[in-house]
Amino acid sequence: MAVAENVRPLAGSRTAWLRWRPEVSTELLALLASVFFAVACNYELWHTLVADVQAHARLLVAVFVFVVALQAFLLGLVLTRWTAKPLLTLLFLATAFAAYYMTTYKVYLDPDMIRNVLETDPHEASELLVSGLLLPLLALAVLPIAALWRLRLRSRTWLRAAWIRLAFLAGMLVLAAGGALFAFQDLSALARNHREVRYLVTPTNYVVSLSKVLLATPPGPAKPLLPIGEDAHEVARADGGRPRLLVFVLGETVRAQNWGLDGYLRQTTPQLAAMDDVVNFPDVESCGTSTQVSVPCLFSPYGRHAYDQARIRSHQSLLHVLQRAGVQVLWRDNQSGCKRVCDGLEFESMARATDPALCDPKRCFDEILLSGLQARIRPDGRDRIVVLHQLGNHGPAYYQRYPPAFRRFTPTCDTEQLGNCSRQQIVNSYDNAVLYTDHFLARAIELLRNEPGYDSALVYVSDHGESLGENGLFLHGVPRAIAPTQQTRVPMVMWFSPGFAQQQRLDLACLRQVAGEPASHDNLFPTILGMFQVQTGIYEPKLDLLRGCEHTRP
Ligand SMILES: [Zn+2]
Repeated sequence: MAVAENVRPLAGSRTAWLRWRPEVSTELLALLASVFFAVACNYELWHTLVADVQAHARLLVAVFVFVVALQAFLLGLVLTRWTAKPLLTLLFLATAFAAYYMTTYKVYLDPDMIRNVLETDPHEASELLVSGLLLPLLALAVLPIAALWRLRLRSRTWLRAAWIRLAFLAGMLVLAAGGALFAFQDLSALARNHREVRYLVTPTNYVVSLSKVLLATPPGPAKPLLPIGEDAHEVARADGGRPRLLVFVLGETVRAQNWGLDGYLRQTTPQLAAMDDVVNFPDVESCGTSTQVSVPCLFSPYGRHAYDQARIRSHQSLLHVLQRAGVQVLWRDNQSGCKRVCDGLEFESMARATDPALCDPKRCFDEILLSGLQARIRPDGRDRIVVLHQLGNHGPAYYQRYPPAFRRFTPTCDTEQLGNCSRQQIVNSYDNAVLYTDHFLARAIELLRNEPGYDSALVYVSDHGESLGENGLFLHGVPRAIAPTQQTRVPMVMWFSPGFAQQQRLDLACLRQVAGEPASHDNLFPTILGMFQVQTGIYEPKLDLLRGCEHTRP
């Protein structure tokens, strides 16, 4: 009997759940969902308003009412008796992911970040799928979705439904306006001084950003890139001059602050520091704070100084201009592709290589980019540029970016879940990955020193930096206008073989002086054109870092 008595309440609650099928109107559902989003899924918004903006209670109330009413209004536009459940299911699920990543890494879901997510390769994505997601998924998606499907949506005659919906939409607009008027001055100051906060309002942020990205680049075959520098041609080499070879190492997520050559207290670049023919540029600014922004930008003539993302993404790159002028181009990739910068040019992905010394089934260490390289660049009289696109310090799995021999700063953070590690552990892993990039660059330079068929040079620059917990920020991708210097200051080094310096009549002492001045990704386009002595109308001499130090050119 005791057993039966114990079972009954349980069975009772089970049938109660099965019987629980309350009827609600679609409008009430839209409002409830909006309140749920505002309360449960917008931690980062409220935290930023309280901690960074130091909003007072009146402003918080105004933002709350405004956000709830506005999101309910938007839901009111798309939810019907038939669409409500599937659409809200999708929104609960996507919002749970969004809320988790925003809170964990403090990211803003603007169009650049959404592009970033869409272009991430499956391995990177799987590194971000971590067990810490379970609880937020349960609380923010599974539970509300279960409740949602228990509801019955009230049916009304067509005319009555239309009237009620119109009244609801008007009511939400009035409520939003009322919320805004309640603290109008502070709210307009917020909109002026902290524009980026709108990218914290979830789920509107990712829905709007996603629509913007899809409108700018509709799915389907990409349009051909518009030509630039159609007049480009190389000045003929002096008699007896060997072909030029430039290895351009495109780094990933290395910040200047942790770069030994830039004065970091830890020597994270011992091998480069031991070479006296490497020129270091300690004050370089990146174009963007993400690969998606920086890579197309730094290969574009428009750059940051004339920044126009649509124009950059629709036009050819530096590499197309070089190829047109007669320079042979090869892009070797250990990352997520070249972002159309090498469209139609020779491209080789190394990410699926199987060298057991450098690769596991998912990934290869960056030295894979050097494997078999010499065979790919046998001298044939032509000038060449080889872009090596590193995996570099791509987070959050810094500990997977270097072989065991480079685990020199300890203890390390041996998980993607940065929240489970101390700041010091995270920094240690990050610095070990920098050590490995130092080693990789030193090996690349050695390879060029031993390549007698060319006069060669190497340029290394990172695409953007990284936050390692400063001001609670992790990873990168903060909107450029408010990005901290950790995300925008990047290392850059150059190396020239004696033959290359001689051919260009390059004065290295002079270049070391120039290297101390502020520079940016914008300098790369003209500097690299200059290295190959390519003449074209889009070459901007004043941005060429070498020009003032070459005695061949006026
Ligand atoms: Zn990147």
